[in-house]
Amino acid sequence: MQTSEIANRWVDYFAKNDHHIAPSASLVSPDPSLLFTVAGMVPFIPYIIGTDTSPHPRIASVQKCIRTKDIEEVGKTTRHGTFFQMLGNFSFGDYFKEGAIDLAFRFLTGPESEGNLGFDPERFWVTIWNEDEAAFSHLKSVGVDPSRIVKLTREENFWDTGQPGPAGPCAEWHYDRGPEFGPEAVGGTVDPGGDRYLEVWNLVFDQFLRGEGAGKDYPLIRELDQKAIDTGAGLERLAYLKQGVANMYEIDEVFPVIAKAQELSGRTYGADATDDVRMRVIADHVRSSLMLIGDGVTPGNEGRGYVLRRLIRRSVRAMKLLGVDERTMPELLPVSLEAMKASYPELETNRAKIEAVAYTEEDAFRRTLAQGTTIFDVAVGKAKEAGTPALSGADAFTLHDTYGFPIDITLEMAAEQGVQVDEAKFRELMKEQKERARADAKAKKGGHADVGVYQGIKEDEGATEFRAYEELTTATE
Ligand code: ATP
Ligand code: MG
Ligand code: MG
Ligand code: MG
Repeated sequence: MQTSEIANRWVDYFAKNDHHIAPSASLVSPDPSLLFTVAGMVPFIPYIIGTDTSPHPRIASVQKCIRTKDIEEVGKTTRHGTFFQMLGNFSFGDYFKEGAIDLAFRFLTGPESEGNLGFDPERFWVTIWNEDEAAFSHLKSVGVDPSRIVKLTREENFWDTGQPGPAGPCAEWHYDRGPEFGPEAVGGTVDPGGDRYLEVWNLVFDQFLRGEGAGKDYPLIRELDQKAIDTGAGLERLAYLKQGVANMYEIDEVFPVIAKAQELSGRTYGADATDDVRMRVIADHVRSSLMLIGDGVTPGNEGRGYVLRRLIRRSVRAMKLLGVDERTMPELLPVSLEAMKASYPELETNRAKIEAVAYTEEDAFRRTLAQGTTIFDVAVGKAKEAGTPALSGADAFTLHDTYGFPIDITLEMAAEQGVQVDEAKFRELMKEQKERARADAKAKKGGHADVGVYQGIKEDEGATEFRAYEELTTATE
């Protein structure tokens, strides 16, 4: 089942169940407190927190999302993309917990021939809040075996906005991929280690008015007059299960870029674990870059533009580490566009503009790399002359910090020359610089800090990591 077909089934199913279908909002968050749209609920925050009334009591959508805080997970877990699509259904004072559970269970396990996904109901585990008796008994009544309903604490399974106002428990659906993917869940967890249990869908029951308190330590004052349902299911995760592949980077919308990276590098996906991560990172980042540029983001030195710049540069760098020195965006971006245009035909309309933005950015980065290589050669020459078999941590740091030369490329090139790098010293200098940047940022404050509208999401991670790197880019552009 193609990814776009799952999305279409979602839309048809919820339309049939009296939901208004809202188009995806832009990746540029409609909520000014967030850089990006990080969840399906973002366009509906005013309806969820009750500051505005929705014109529709029931809404469903397929929302484009960017989560930069997941960037380090990409390619290493089976399930985290920087870009992904969140399937959402919402109720504002209409159906509540039982209705949301019914809708989810039927869509997941109902017959494929009737537009559902047809998963085996025995495979699902659901985590709930340990005091949510209503969720427990309703899940049982629809057919989830109680041994597969896991009760978690408020810390683990409770939504709030970080301040007094609405709050409520979640029920999260996890799919058991089978014993070949890890140990069985015993003792009240669905996270026994390994990749066996895949979280696919989070149902948030916006049920209580909460009071003051730090973290999850606040009183639940009373039930809300108007309760809301906010759910999010990962389209790519459902797709990887339906398509029987090992992870979300191998689905129809993502894998073609991996295939192209194999072809360009002459390396085989599946042959080497490090190369595999690189290929998955490339496929993810190229797709995210495509979608961001499609939504009007251009590379820059701060905010959204900086995230895009980082994604493009990480892709180019990863291709270099696969041994490809030629320009890569002109090869990879059109492949990603082909794979995505069934769902987003506007990508084709904007193709020329999108390509120009991506290719210009790659070229700027390549100039940065070329300059860094010259500096590198001088530093290595110096080290060899001095009879030291190692490039100093200070040189590696200068290369990174002043010339924007990524450390993994320094390491690779040093290894090729039979030279070591004082990595420990490099890391120490990096840490010091990060602390300085953090102190700086604290002094400045403000900007796009997260306001906790969605559980555990922060958008300002990593923004200071490559500061001088940006300065160089500016100087060479
Ligand atoms: P995880 O624990 O796997 O990181 P999450 O709890 O952070 O997921 P939610 O915030 O509950 O995710 O988002 C709702 C759904 O969106 C998840 O159940 C999952 O299916 C999907 N999802 C979340 N983050 C990602 C991501 N980075 N890539 C792909 N799908 C995602
Ligand atoms: Mg997460
Ligand atoms: Mg989770
Ligand atoms: Mg979750």
